[in-house]
Amino acid sequence: MAHAPRHDPVDQNRFIYTPEIHSDHRVLVTGGAGFLGSHLCEALLARGRDVLCVDNFFTGRKANIAHLLGDSRFELLRHDVTHPLFAEVDRIYNLACPASPIHYQYNPVKTIKTSVVGAIHMLGLAKRVKARILQASTSEVYGSPAVHPQPESYWGNVNPVGIRSCYDEGKRAAECLFMDYHRQNRVDVRIVRIFNTYGPRMLPNDGRVVSNFIVQALKGAPLTIYGDGSQTRSFCYVDDLVEAMIRMMDQDEIIGPVNIGNPGEFTILELAEQVRELVGTRTEIRFEPLPSDDPLQRKPDIALAERHLGWTPRIPLREGLVKTIAYFDDLLRTGASG
Ligand code: NAD
Ligand code: UDP
Repeated sequence: MAHAPRHDPVDQNRFIYTPEIHSDHRVLVTGGAGFLGSHLCEALLARGRDVLCVDNFFTGRKANIAHLLGDSRFELLRHDVTHPLFAEVDRIYNLACPASPIHYQYNPVKTIKTSVVGAIHMLGLAKRVKARILQASTSEVYGSPAVHPQPESYWGNVNPVGIRSCYDEGKRAAECLFMDYHRQNRVDVRIVRIFNTYGPRMLPNDGRVVSNFIVQALKGAPLTIYGDGSQTRSFCYVDDLVEAMIRMMDQDEIIGPVNIGNPGEFTILELAEQVRELVGTRTEIRFEPLPSDDPLQRKPDIALAERHLGWTPRIPLREGLVKTIAYFDDLLRTGASG
């Protein structure tokens, strides 16, 4: 028996359909061998859930989840979400999609297929087995924002035909699909918009700014700043992010979209200076051309997450960088980057 539809507290013109959840125990994580996915699998196991990790290992690595393989509640399946999947689960976290610009631009057609076709397959599965499903959306849906900081009510400023569009528009279409499956088929959805998140298990060659700077600084190589370094980003440590995702999944009040990120805002030049200081190097900074459509500023308005999830990020940039530097330092020393 489903609960009667009720008004969404965030938008009174919208209804929320909440089926009665029979169980929350068996959890599917797509993209579970990736950076965020592997931390999420770990956190779910620690909360006593059974976890099915699905990944095609495009940017994910077995090394990220190798330590979980001995746990009888953890299962790993090599699978590409652009193909249908059937699995008896209660909850689905949909994270499958390369997230770094160099990886999502490597095969842009595949990237948008992963977001759109992958969402259709996972939503179809959620509908069939009556699972609650959470979409890992992104601050990229705001594009190069004309509103600052960005609240969820802002519709964004996205180039539909640029080199970042395969990712941005794929994620926007996925949000649309989530809301339409919710309205049309009463699928129990959740959407989080994740702002730049960093931490251990990012790939050393990932191309994102935090991992690039740390690896460059540890190797004594020049830090590559694209543009003049005045563009801003807000960086969230992975543990804070995972906590917010689980809270979003486990509450019945709102379906989203909800911004998740750390509102501390830094220029890329400030980030470079902090990394140099924490690594203890004076390696030079090299300025390179700014890639096209690179957003000039980004900072989440997290009022909704604070109000409805009781969540606020705890780990400041400096503390998170220290942990991440220790991870990459170890990785580079032991050569265990495979
Ligand atoms: P990641 O690249 O480490 O993880 C993505 C995972 O998805 C990888 O394990 C990859 O192998 C897998 N994958 C890719 N295509 C797939 C496919 N077709 N089928 C099955 N698996 C596939 O990136 P991440 O930073 O962990 O990001 C995870 C999710 O969070 C992504 O959806 C990303 O868009 C979203 N996100 C991340 C950030 C961030 O700052 N880390 C910000 C916004 C949104
Ligand atoms: N960036 C940089 N040097 C690098 C990698 C990235 O200056 O070696 C810049 C990039 O141009 C962008 C910001 O850092 O302005 C964040 O880039 P990232 O790829 O981490 O995330 P996104 O652009 O998707 O927010």
